[in-house]
Amino acid sequence: MDSKETEELAQHCKRILELLGEDSSREGLLKTPLRVARSLQFLTKGYGESGEEILRSAMFKEDYRQMVVVKDIELYSMCEHHMLPFYGKAHVAYIPNGYITGLSKIARVVETYARRLQVQERLTVQIRDCIQNTLNPLGVAVVVEASHMCMQVRGVQKQNSVTTTSAFTGAFLSDIRTRNEFITLIGSKLH
Ligand SMILES: [Zn+2]
Repeated sequence: MDSKETEELAQHCKRILELLGEDSSREGLLKTPLRVARSLQFLTKGYGESGEEILRSAMFKEDYRQMVVVKDIELYSMCEHHMLPFYGKAHVAYIPNGYITGLSKIARVVETYARRLQVQERLTVQIRDCIQNTLNPLGVAVVVEASHMCMQVRGVQKQNSVTTTSAFTGAFLSDIRTRNEFITLIGSKLH
């Protein structure tokens, strides 16, 4: 059963098809508005979730104080300027300060911020701040490498450009060796 919001979204999607010059009643398009509506809701489901809650659901007291790195986290998001996908990888590290979290929770934090209308810069900072504010670690590092479909299929039509953004706190900011260790571990060129 679809919600009122889904039904209303579908009505608008149908109108978009018509405004684009399509016949929204032809067979291949009959279910398209509803599919698009559900798809858009899936791609923005992060609005209904909290990154902090995800981390707090699996926080463990632990004395480990070495860098924890989760690299190559697949990422699919949607640019807020064109509502077209951007996709790539996130690499996240933190240095625990009494608490660790489940490794899958780091990936879920990336997911919850990616499933919203985003700009890559804000996405990067939101992941960092969520981990810093929840686990209060000695430092957090986030690098996101992504290709933007709004650059690939329209506008400048650059197929192979990758945008890299990064955000650091604590030891990753103050200690160049720590930051370099992270960058070496993730194998990024940081271009
Ligand atoms: Zn865009």
